[in-house]
Amino acid sequence: MEKNPGNTSKISARINELTNDLKNQQIETFRWLHQNPELALQEFKSSRFILKHLQDLSNIEIVHPISKTGIKAILRGNKPGPTVALRADIDALPVREETGLSYASKVKTNYQGTETYVSHACGHDANTAAALGVAAVLNQIKDELYGTVVFIFQPAEEGVPPGEDGGAALMVKEGVLKNPDVDAIFSFHANSMYYPGTVIIGDGITHASMDNIIIKIKGVQAHGSQPWKAKDPIIAGSAIINAIQTIISRDVDLQKGAAVITAGYFHGGVKVNIIPDEAEIGLTVRSLDDDNHELLMRRVKEVAELEAQVHGCYAEVIYGQHYPINRNNPDLYQLIIQGVKEFAGTGNLVKYLPKTTSEDFSYFSQQVPGLYIQYGSAPIDKPLSESKPNHHPEFMVDEAAIKFVTRLECQLIINALKKLHMSLIKGENIT
Ligand SMILES: [Zn+2]
Ligand SMILES: [Zn+2]
Repeated sequence: MEKNPGNTSKISARINELTNDLKNQQIETFRWLHQNPELALQEFKSSRFILKHLQDLSNIEIVHPISKTGIKAILRGNKPGPTVALRADIDALPVREETGLSYASKVKTNYQGTETYVSHACGHDANTAAALGVAAVLNQIKDELYGTVVFIFQPAEEGVPPGEDGGAALMVKEGVLKNPDVDAIFSFHANSMYYPGTVIIGDGITHASMDNIIIKIKGVQAHGSQPWKAKDPIIAGSAIINAIQTIISRDVDLQKGAAVITAGYFHGGVKVNIIPDEAEIGLTVRSLDDDNHELLMRRVKEVAELEAQVHGCYAEVIYGQHYPINRNNPDLYQLIIQGVKEFAGTGNLVKYLPKTTSEDFSYFSQQVPGLYIQYGSAPIDKPLSESKPNHHPEFMVDEAAIKFVTRLECQLIINALKKLHMSLIKGENIT
């Protein structure tokens, strides 16, 4: 057994050289994706584009389609070792881009029956361009790889339309982490609140659980001038929206972690002088603790049903899409963190604190040890205070972030394979 497999500085120099050669092509890839954004489960053009790039790489085996428009690509290194996966998300958002960039998206599409603009307002174009760059670089240095790298291009991270299956959950169901069996998985995501060069990384919870819940309230219709003849679902719905907030303020143990209930919509009625016979509330519910999550699911239903009854109405509670809490694996973090510090500089690391946003990467990290990491992508020519957050119409990725994260991903994968290989030889398992 070699004591220190691979020559680290020689490999770093080679990665730097290859990423320099790739720079223009990678920016072209990023801009093409940026100008051709597609919503969840509509990523057909993006998928064909990614496929074409992967097919140009001689050593890569491709599995396609997986999870509708997704792709899995396998690169087997020349040395024996474990399997590490890199996941990139490929879908865009129904957001009208207002960045003023020369390559801004002008794309429009149909979203649930309404015509809408589409853009990569979450930076999945950069995440994907980086992962394609990593595939191209590692393809050139496969002789140095201890084991196998699986690239996962995942559709529908931003959620699927009601009633549809997709995203990470479906990829797991379709066996994306099997054959070869993945030992660890990583995902890197753009964050416009930090400049390129910053790495946001942690060893615990990164994201809350998410549940979409729909409450349908049935009442009795009547003339608006004679409310005593109605069972008013708008009054019942208003009471429900207020009452369910007390689940957060009075039922949930907030010491265990933050929790949120937000009513994102409340629809009912068509005309000022008609009390309608039904109304609908759409909720998103978030929790950073599993017990609180269970309590929230039960109490939202109880409170909605009872509050509707108080007003003579009936509430039907429908549970929709669910993302689990994402937990970064502490053992995997310990294994790679020194390498990340050496690459980025300790001063450029920011601790990833638990957030009430959600990520379906949790479906992968529930199956195998995983780390969800963010990289700074704020435009370097502006003050940070002017950089707009992800999902904003003026959200932007500085192209300098792409080369940085491509190098970081290459280094981290090589490092993780080597370290996992060594610990497996020693009989240490990360779980
Ligand atoms: Zn997003
Ligand atoms: Zn995103």
